[in-house]
Amino acid sequence: MPEATAFFIHTRLHLKVSRAKVAFHTHMPHATALCMVEGEPLLFAGQTALKFYGRTTLDRDYNGLALDSAEGDRIAASVGNADIILMKHHGVMVLGNTIAEAWDDLYYLERACAATSVSASGPHGVIISTAMHKPS
Ligand SMILES: [Zn+2]
Repeated sequence: MPEATAFFIHTRLHLKVSRAKVAFHTHMPHATALCMVEGEPLLFAGQTALKFYGRTTLDRDYNGLALDSAEGDRIAASVGNADIILMKHHGVMVLGNTIAEAWDDLYYLERACAATSVSASGPHGVIISTAMHKPS
């Protein structure tokens, strides 16, 4: 028997978001920490973060532990076209076509969040260059 909150989140997500062949949901420390502060969790101020530019959504409506289908349904409804879901007060969800793709995204998401967290905690503000957002 899977852990109850994981069961309710994953069963409802796979039921409602058919394109999500793979879904990893974690509470990894840097990404989760950024989801616990004001504003956008992930700043597109560094090269690693750009891997996720245009691919994220922010779920702002955390309702506590998912102990029934309602929270899983709500999370699934928040996904839209994104494959990276930053979940306020909770963690992250990464969707992919394969385990390898989702794992790669999950790994680099945590690395990008670590860089964002360290840079944002420094003595100077984070610089977001407009050049960062130009399509290549
Ligand atoms: Zn969780």
